[in-house]
Amino acid sequence: MNMELSRRAFLLTAGAGVAGTALGAFGFGDVEAAYAAAIRPFKLVNTTETRNTCTYCSVACGIILYSKGDLRKGETAEITYIEGDSDHPTNRGTLCPKGAALLSIVKSKTRLTYPMVRRPGSDRFERISWDEALDKIVRVLKDDRDKNFIALNEAGVTVNRWVTSGILAASATTNETAFATYKVMRSTGMLAFDNQARV
Ligand code: SF4
Repeated sequence: MNMELSRRAFLLTAGAGVAGTALGAFGFGDVEAAYAAAIRPFKLVNTTETRNTCTYCSVACGIILYSKGDLRKGETAEITYIEGDSDHPTNRGTLCPKGAALLSIVKSKTRLTYPMVRRPGSDRFERISWDEALDKIVRVLKDDRDKNFIALNEAGVTVNRWVTSGILAASATTNETAFATYKVMRSTGMLAFDNQARV
């Protein structure tokens, strides 16, 4: 999504214009031309801007990812810079130190970008597909719930509890996603529900 490039281009052009005009006013016409020609293109020009949400905590600050490489041309897009989204109502462009270091997460060699499993009896993790991972998770949860669901307590009161599985949800979601996640998991009777922000 290309957006706000005009704002940055405007600032660059305006800055060059003011400096160049000031030089020109003192009679340095050639200097003005050389100065304008020497200005390197701003590093964010020609990048693609994509809005996203900081991954870290439930404040859910808005961020802008800047990437180079046109996916429509079959190129690989690489994120080159991340900053706070000045139009986001939560953070207005600001980021805490963790959010300001997001690019190092993206570039980290140890970042896990696909599901892995350690099968029974194995001493190592192996990569699996997302389909296999989701099927596996659903299968394990269903079997556990079928086996351990508590419909009535000892006094015969309906409780509909499922206490042998839990979910760790992500806090960096929209309110709507969080609401749907909460409703779905609670509707199964699951009691253990937390997220990484612990709020
Ligand atoms: S970790 Fe920092 S930047 Fe990220 S959402 Fe939380 S407060 Fe915002």
